[in-house]
Amino acid sequence: MAEKKQKEPKNELMEKIVSLCKRRGFIFQGSEVYGGLAGTYDWGHFGVALKNSIKQAWWKKFVDSRRDMYGIDAAILMNAKVWEASGHVAGFSDPTEDGKQFNVMFKTSVGAGEEAATSYLRPETAQGMFVNFKNTVDAFHPKLPFGMAQIGKAFRNEIAPRDFIFRQREFEQMEIEYFVREEDWERYFEYWKGEMLEWMEEVGLDMNKVHELEVEEADRAHYSKRTIDFEFDYPFGRKELFGLAYRTNFDLNNHKLEYIDEEALGKTVPHVIEPTFGVDRAILALLLSAYTEEEKDGEVREYLKLKPNIAPVICAVSPLLKNKPELVEYANTKVYAPLKMEFGRVAWDDNGNIGKRYRRQDEVGTPFCIVVDFDTLSDDAVTVRDRDTGSQARVKVSELKKYISERL
Ligand code: ATP
Repeated sequence: MAEKKQKEPKNELMEKIVSLCKRRGFIFQGSEVYGGLAGTYDWGHFGVALKNSIKQAWWKKFVDSRRDMYGIDAAILMNAKVWEASGHVAGFSDPTEDGKQFNVMFKTSVGAGEEAATSYLRPETAQGMFVNFKNTVDAFHPKLPFGMAQIGKAFRNEIAPRDFIFRQREFEQMEIEYFVREEDWERYFEYWKGEMLEWMEEVGLDMNKVHELEVEEADRAHYSKRTIDFEFDYPFGRKELFGLAYRTNFDLNNHKLEYIDEEALGKTVPHVIEPTFGVDRAILALLLSAYTEEEKDGEVREYLKLKPNIAPVICAVSPLLKNKPELVEYANTKVYAPLKMEFGRVAWDDNGNIGKRYRRQDEVGTPFCIVVDFDTLSDDAVTVRDRDTGSQARVKVSELKKYISERL
């Protein structure tokens, strides 16, 4: 029988985060109605929104705003020969409790009956880029150095999934393979280290909790000549967040792929710098960075101090009272509808009293709560409450889009 619920060590902060994620519709245990399935999680409405923000911020910085990066979305199922050539069939193993090596790739079969072929769910997105190296070169004729980028699911049959979304069996990666001439690898390794740190800061990770770890040779993956782990101070310890590896030309060599370098006038097998980011660990680190508790008048206020452009809800719109049709009508047609058209991630919230609505939006990390009250009907202005300071501003409805855009 499949393992169900994960056994989690007790940690107060983690418990608060897990409970907030469930209560507010970010992240649920996978297959929960059947008792769960260890190592899997399902993402609710606000979780998907947060994940999308993170993925978009990544794609924008590393693909859309560059001239030397080519996106790809390769199949999750790949010919088993890919994983033989990459070394994963032979060596992608973790030791079990009694010291037996266990290959963590998920094996499956493709096709019916005797025709069925063994295949694997990809344990990293990287190989999807390597095996499309030639396709990309032939289609786009890039000059070295250039990169390929991919966001997608990866699967590992982890022996002990744990710590919420930190170690799962199904997770998501954002990876770059940056192809360089061998003599340039050190320069580009340093360059990508800087780019990674810059992105972490841009999305709002607490940089005091991010640390670099030079990985010793014995602990490096089979393909790597140098690796830096970016670690994060999670409540359960300082552990890997993202990685940066110099993969040499191990993979392209093994797949028998090469490149015609017009400048160097000859065939070469480019070397690879690989910045890799786990989407789920990015979200966990972000939630931990943003989670704030504040005591005021004997009451504790919990909120997620997310950057406005990353938060799952940019603003929430409320009529002061939900049983006053004139307020509801105004809030709906003159405030909510146009803001929803403009920003998409806009919530309608008319449940409970205003205090309760603020608490709820605080927990989601909504930076602006907009309230339509009786004065609005005569002055066409609304109250905009700021999540972090709790301060309130009176803003003309005609100025709302501008007011919010300026703060994004
Ligand atoms: P660890 O040492 O924690 O097992 P790893 O070194 O095996 O991680 P990589 O192979 O470098 O991880 O994978 C790249 C990135 O994918 C990691 O930096 C991490 O963000 C993410 N990742 C790896 N394994 C998992 C997992 N089981 N659950 C969630 N994210 C993961």
